[in-house]
This record gives sequence, structure tokens and C-alpha cells, in this order.
Amino acid sequence: MITPFVYEGQPYRVLFGHGTLDRLPEEAARLGCNRLLVLSTPDQRQSAEQLAALLGSRCAGIYCGARMHTPVDVTEDAMALVERARIDGTVALGGGSTIGLSKAIALRTDLSQIAVPTTYAGSEMTRIIGQTEKGEKTTQVTAKVLPETVIYDVDLTLTLPARLSVTSGINAMAHAVEALYATNTNPIVQLMAEAGIAALYRGLPVIVRSPGDTEARRDALYGAWLSAVCLGQTSMALHHKLCHVLGGSFNLPHAETHTIVLPHVLAYNAPAARDAVEAIKRAIGGPGIAGRIYDVAQNAGVPVALRDLGMLESGIDRAVEFALANSYANPRPLEPVLLHRLIANAWAGVRPDHDTYKQ
Ligand code: NAD
Repeated sequence: MITPFVYEGQPYRVLFGHGTLDRLPEEAARLGCNRLLVLSTPDQRQSAEQLAALLGSRCAGIYCGARMHTPVDVTEDAMALVERARIDGTVALGGGSTIGLSKAIALRTDLSQIAVPTTYAGSEMTRIIGQTEKGEKTTQVTAKVLPETVIYDVDLTLTLPARLSVTSGINAMAHAVEALYATNTNPIVQLMAEAGIAALYRGLPVIVRSPGDTEARRDALYGAWLSAVCLGQTSMALHHKLCHVLGGSFNLPHAETHTIVLPHVLAYNAPAARDAVEAIKRAIGGPGIAGRIYDVAQNAGVPVALRDLGMLESGIDRAVEFALANSYANPRPLEPVLLHRLIANAWAGVRPDHDTYKQ
């Protein structure tokens, strides 16, 4: 049944394919940018330098200091270069960390942004910016930080290690899963979410076996894009709140934490999110959805237990307390005993099934 909804299109321009990066100079010209700053992490410096060469005279600087969680001191360092080199736009080559830095610069300057994502995290499709200062992460939502142009080039993801591809891909899948049952979901988002989960579920196991498989890489990046749109269009629920709490309070890595938590939240929410469950079953080709997503991670050899990320057992009670501290929309009400079971199971790495979170 189609229930009433609001759909709001976003003003970004998206290029998707193989070799699409070659079109960067024309995209820069289209935005009227002549003095671009290229951004990356230290690990991706070499790729950033190649990208700068492609831009030629339109490149006015390279900054390779992007770090996870957008530390404000890194942004201030980059801002000094923005001012000194009279930068008129940024090109972010990388994952959520680099795109976060680009967004932080846009927040302060309103400069145009071209994002060239090389992971599946999805920040390029959202108006969300999280920044960290003195160990505290704050989040804002503003149209100022949405990149004007996003270039998805499948070829750039071939170097993403298989294990990182799987955790980043399940991180993307989580956006689509929560979009299916979001309070502000809509039919377009639901179509994209289902197609996104299907493409990721198809692509990730193949990437594990054969990291250079271009078709699987195309599936995964396409699924990541669709899931990122879902993230940008809807409000996330228990899964994202829990990962935010775990990441912030226990300093756990972003994509790995999402990978461990998603099957548990899915099993927990399933009884209260029937339509979402049906969509996911169609996407992955059958029942037992929580366990099958867990299996994708386990078969890839990535951590399926929070304890393997270094979280201590004594943290479980604290995590439950933090997760219950603020109220937020979730298809199934948060029941403290079951939430405790969920976090304890995620900590121990138990494979969830449809009975795991029965009353
Ligand atoms: P990341 O950007 O930190 O990348 C992880 C590592 O992979 C880095 O060392 C990077 O250099 C390397 N890497 C990236 N692409 C590569 C490639 N193709 N080949 C080889 N190495 C590559 O990690 P991430 O998971 O993409 O992003 C996580 C960050 O993004 C977190 O801070 C998270 O909060 C943020 N995020 C924000 C939003 C939002 O909407 N604001 C959405 C998702 C994630």
C-alpha cells in the first residue's frame, strides 16, 4: 500500500562508470573552478597527485592530511592553505574521512565541491557533517556541505582491500536497511534501498574471492551510491544511533562497527518492520536475512564481534545506558533487557536469527 509521503530531490550531479575521473577537468570547468584544492588522506597521496596532474592548471594545491572523524585542527590547517592559495573549490578523493574534510571547508567558505568517493561510506550524498574537537564529535545538518558534483569511478575502487570493501559495503547496506523503515521513508527511497542491498549483497562476496572483478566492483559501488542516497534522504534509527554511541564512547572503527551491529539490529527490528523485511528478502533472495548478512562478513574473515575490535566486556552495560539515554524513532520500541542482549551478542559475535530477540 502506498502511504502518504514527502519526496525532496537533492541538487547534486552524479557521474557513474569506469574511467569517469577523466571527465574531472570538464566538471571543474562546469562549476567555474580554476583554483582547486585536491584533498586526500596520507595513504592516498599518490592518487591525489595523479588527480592533480589531470586537473593541470586548474589545480592550485594538494592537501593530504585528512583524518577519520574530521578533527577541527586538521580543517584549520587545510583552511590556511585555502586562504593562502586563493582556492575556489575542492576535489575530495577518498572515503568519508576525506569527504568530511571537504565538507568542513565548504561549511566555512561555501566553496564548490567535487567528491570522488573511493570507499562505500556514502558521505558524498548527505548534508551531514560530523566534526571532532577535544575528543568530542558534534554533528550538523546543512545544505552548505552537500557536494555539487560526485564522480563515481569504479576503477578507483579496485585498490580498496577486499576486507575493507566488505566492511565499507556492509556500512553502506546499513543505510539502505534503515531507510526502508525510516519514519520519513518514501517509495523512491524504498526502490533505491532494495536495489542497493541487492547490488551490495551480490558484489561483496565476489570481491572477497576476486578483488579485481570489475563487475562485482561495479555492483558494489552502484549499491553504495543507492544506499548513500537513502542515507541522505531519511532519518536513521537504532542501528546508526548505536554505532554512533559505540564509535564515540569506545573509539571503535566506523565501518567495522557497522558490520558487526547490523545483523543484530536487523534481527531485533524485524518483527516490527515487516515491509522492510520483505524488501530485504527480495534483495538477497530468501529468508534468514540477519544471519545471511552476518555470513557475508564472517566468510570474508572480517570481525563479527565487538570484542575483536578491542571493546571490553565491562563496556556492555555502559553502551546500553548510552543507547537508551536519548529517545529516537525506531520501528520496535527499545526494551532494555533485549537491547542488553543485542549488545552482548554483538560483543561476543553470536550469529543472530529470527528468534534471537524474541520476548
Ligand atoms: P576512510 O575515509 O577513513 O578510509 C579508510 C582508509 O581507506 C583510509 O586510510 C583511506 O586512505 C583508505 N582508502 C580509501 N579508499 C581507498 C582505495 N580505493 N584504495 C585503497 N585505500 C583506500 O573511511 P570511510 O569508512 O570511507 O569513512 C569513515 C568516516 O566517514 C567516518 O569519520 C564517518 O563518520 C564518516 N562518514 C560520514 C558520513 C556523513 O554523511 N557525514 C557518512 C558516512 C561516513
